[in-house]
Amino acid sequence: MFESLSDRLGKIFEGLRGRGALNESDVDAALREVRRALLEADVSLEVVKAFVEQVRERAVGAEVTRSVTPGQQVVKIVHDELVKVLGETQVPIDFSTTPPMTMLMVGLQGAGKTTLSAKLAKRMKERQGKKVLMASLDDRRPAAKEQLRVLGEQIGVDTLPIQLNEKPVDIAKRAQREGKLGGYDVLILDTAGRTHIDEELMEETAAVKAATDPHEILLVADSLTGQDAVNLARSFDARVDITGIVLTRVDGDGRGGAALSMRAATGKPIKLIGTGEKLDALEDFHPSRIADRILGMGDIVSLVEKAAQNVTAEDAAKMAKKLKKGVFDLEDLRNQLLQMKKMGGMGSLMNMMPGMNQMKKAMAGANVDEKVFDRQIAVINSMTKAERANPDLLNAKRRIRIANGSGTKVEDVNKLMKQHRQMADMMKKVSKGGMGSLAGMFGG
Ligand code: GDP
Ligand code: MG
Repeated sequence: MFESLSDRLGKIFEGLRGRGALNESDVDAALREVRRALLEADVSLEVVKAFVEQVRERAVGAEVTRSVTPGQQVVKIVHDELVKVLGETQVPIDFSTTPPMTMLMVGLQGAGKTTLSAKLAKRMKERQGKKVLMASLDDRRPAAKEQLRVLGEQIGVDTLPIQLNEKPVDIAKRAQREGKLGGYDVLILDTAGRTHIDEELMEETAAVKAATDPHEILLVADSLTGQDAVNLARSFDARVDITGIVLTRVDGDGRGGAALSMRAATGKPIKLIGTGEKLDALEDFHPSRIADRILGMGDIVSLVEKAAQNVTAEDAAKMAKKLKKGVFDLEDLRNQLLQMKKMGGMGSLMNMMPGMNQMKKAMAGANVDEKVFDRQIAVINSMTKAERANPDLLNAKRRIRIANGSGTKVEDVNKLMKQHRQMADMMKKVSKGGMGSLAGMFGG
């Protein structure tokens, strides 16, 4: 089974608690794991090397916050550096030009250019009220133009009428004329792609650029691109000076390494991500989420930040261990309620544990606030040890006793039992799906 980077680092730093600062040999051992994790996430070797050096500089001598483990501390440093390289802020599509704002989609065949053209057109139309025209410059496959036309019809966006035997540059120029005449705000030019980078593809792309001077040139790339990502991004950027990158198929099982490679290789912002085949499966790019995905974990980073204030590393580790086993009794619920109370409420702890999104959803209806925590904790306090370990013991008679003992009503006891059952079920599912369940990690 997939072992997350945080688990591996935990092992390296076992027994290291309380040493104060990270020394060079600890850091070296950790960085070997970081390197491996990044390569497994398909970040290109060249980028991994440079990145690891950057982390080394920051990590050696770094203070370890008292209540987290050194392993967690290193994960936090790695995460922060990842976010830095990925670009800290979200860079939107730039409209600041005289309309029609021309956008050129470039990239390899099958990367998702045509789909992205339609997704963007739909989004601009719906969210910004833009009048959009799309044109396919693919003069090789008649089906490509038809694909774009059908998509346009589906979303109610115009496409340039198809003419036979027209060269890409000529189509692009005609599209721009039509864009001006027709009063369009945005013109999206969808290019043909080859299955690999070749001179003909680059020349054609460069010629279209020269003829239309696009305001945005987006490199569309599959997030599973892997080791080719650097070469791909560099080639396109060197030739047509891209303004941004869009990663597609982020819904697949890739770990997002291509994002890091491409950004590091070009310095160009990743603007959007495609998360599915449907035409509204388009999201803004959030560096922190991709960083989590690359590291293969839940939001351990905020766990470290919160833990620095409140919960001890032991508490968190104990909980994580239990979660892994899929065991969750009333004693665990009590501990969790106490922790949540300490950490300032609902959500915070759950957000930090892998797979906890589902659980939070299950609890969302429960209308939890601080007073509810207190009441629930009181209910559990009134149970015997045996009852906490084995909720099945709680027959009607025992429930009345517990309600009386905790100054609550039997309904409160019942409600808590129901909630516990839901959480325990959820826990079983989460542990079966594996702690690293990507869906949960990725905001799922
Ligand atoms: P193009 O050759 O670059 O124009 O690629 P297309 O837009 O035709 O897409 C190729 C295939 O990938 C199609 O079947 C799309 O439905 C699919 N696709 C595109 N973007 C995504 C995405 O973000 N997620 C998934 N799962 N599929 C996508
Ligand atoms: Mg296409």
